[in-house]
Amino acid sequence: TIGMLAIDAKGNISGACTTSGMAYKLHGRIGDSPIIGAGLYVDNEVGGATSTGVGEEVVRNVGSFLVVELMRQGYTPEAACKEAVMRIIKKKPETAKNIQVGFLAINKKGEYGAYAIQKGFSYAVCNEKQQDLLIKGKSY
Ligand code: ASP
Repeated sequence: TIGMLAIDAKGNISGACTTSGMAYKLHGRIGDSPIIGAGLYVDNEVGGATSTGVGEEVVRNVGSFLVVELMRQGYTPEAACKEAVMRIIKKKPETAKNIQVGFLAINKKGEYGAYAIQKGFSYAVCNEKQQDLLIKGKSY
């Protein structure tokens, strides 16, 4: 998945995501990317979130919606992403061993963060101060 979140000079937030699907997927599998609230969610009052990884786990937890709702409650983007990851791991501890799910989020102030189950999840930031800054996302 490539997930993108953007905020404009007026504070309007937008998001988009693509998907590569999953190898050996069942015919007709949809995954999380095209489901609003799972692979992508934006509430212009709060912020936006997107996910990558095993879409089934994201769909089960309505992951991107969860991240945005946590930010509404005051979580920072990174803390919200971490909480959504922990929710997945708590419900299915075996996901911590070999399944990747990562979330990326931005809030109304333009603060951003990410968190993933496995190491190796990185994201790029582009703003007036820096172009294509590559950030290593934290992980479980
Ligand atoms: N999240 C995608 C899916 O499950 C896979 C990916 O591209 O990361 O369909």
